This record gives sequence, structure tokens and C-alpha cells, in this order.
Amino acid sequence: MSASVGSAGEILWVFGIVTWYVIRYPFERRAKRVRVVDSRRSPVDMIGLAAALLGQAFVPGFYVLTGKPKVADHPVHVWAIALGAILFFCGLWVFRRTHKELGKNWSITLQIRDKHQLVVTGPYALVRHPMYSSFLLLALGQAFLLSNWVAGLSGLAGFLVLFFLRVGKEEQMMLETFGSSYGDYMKMTKRIIPCLY
Ligand code: SAH
Repeated sequence: MSASVGSAGEILWVFGIVTWYVIRYPFERRAKRVRVVDSRRSPVDMIGLAAALLGQAFVPGFYVLTGKPKVADHPVHVWAIALGAILFFCGLWVFRRTHKELGKNWSITLQIRDKHQLVVTGPYALVRHPMYSSFLLLALGQAFLLSNWVAGLSGLAGFLVLFFLRVGKEEQMMLETFGSSYGDYMKMTKRIIPCLY
């Protein structure tokens, strides 16, 4: 019973991560066609991206494929898998909404694109980094879906590295580009958790 519930968690995670890429792929393709006018891509930002990729894709993917590291397995609970599925699904939904809202202004790294517009609508009316909120939801979902301490928590670790290496620099870039419009927007919104942080 618990083995099959555990496998269900892993299957849901695989399904979720494939959906994640299906959502992202068209934006990646479209972004290549819009000229970058200011790039702040740096080794530090690349480290953040690598950490997120490692923690949210490679480590859990390796676990799902090989079952390793087995010593880090912990008991499976139906409630945890159900909660993980809800969190992961909500994360995917927010992820999709942010891509739709950002449109041509999206970049994988810190970049300002030609005719870049400040987006303050949709999920951006609630918090100023809703895509990072979605990463947090996905990381929490992963922690509950995979019954292994390493594969479960690596997503949260990767997210935290990316987020804290990037968020200050991103806000600085947005302030330099959009001036008081972004300053005012910062006063009205929290970073990733509405009303809290
Ligand atoms: N931090 C945002 C966006 C992540 S994508 C979020 O979590 O939702 C990163 C790129 O989005 C940055 O390079 C920046 O150019 C762009 N960006 C960030 N916030 C934006 C906003 N409010 N409006 C338009 N572009 C934004």
C-alpha cells in the first residue's frame, strides 16, 4: 500500500515537471526573438539558476529513476501525497498565469527587453515576484510528493539559493529601468507571499 502511494507521488511529480516544461517552452522560443537591451546575467545568477535546476529537477529526477539515496527514504503518508499534489498543481497554475501576464517581458535571467513594459496586473497585482511564488509552491509540493528527505527538500534548497542570490539584483535593475513607477509598485506589494513577505 505505502509503496504504491509512494509511486503515485513520484508519478505525479514526473507529470508535473513535464507540464512545467510544456508551459515554459513556447515562452523560451518567443523570448529569443525579442532583442535584449540590458543584460545583467552574471556568474552569481548562473549559480542560482544551476542550484534551482539541480534541486528542482536533477536531484528528484535521479531519485525517481534510481530510488537513491535510499537511506534518506521516510514513511509515505496519503495525506502528504495529496497535499503535495495540491501544492504542485497550484504552483503550476500560478506559473502559467505569470508567463501569460509577463508575455514578451519574460527572461530566464536578469534582462530588460526591447519595449519592456512594467507588468503590475493579474498575479503581479498581488505580489511583485509571483513566478518565484510559484517556484516556492512547486518546491513545497515536491517536498510532500517525494518520500525522501534529500529528493524532497532539494527543491526548497535550490529555490532559496536562486531567490536570495537574485531578488535584490532584480529589484535594483527594475528600479533603474522604471524609476519611481517601480518604486511605487514596491511600496504597494510584498515580494512573494501576499500581505506577509
Ligand atoms: N521576478 C518576476 C519575474 C521573473 S522572470 C516573478 O517572479 O514573477 C525575470 C525577468 O522578468 C526579469 O529579468 C525582469 O526583466 C522581468 N520582470 C520582473 N518583474 C517584472 C514586472 N513586474 N514587469 C515586467 N517585467 C518584469
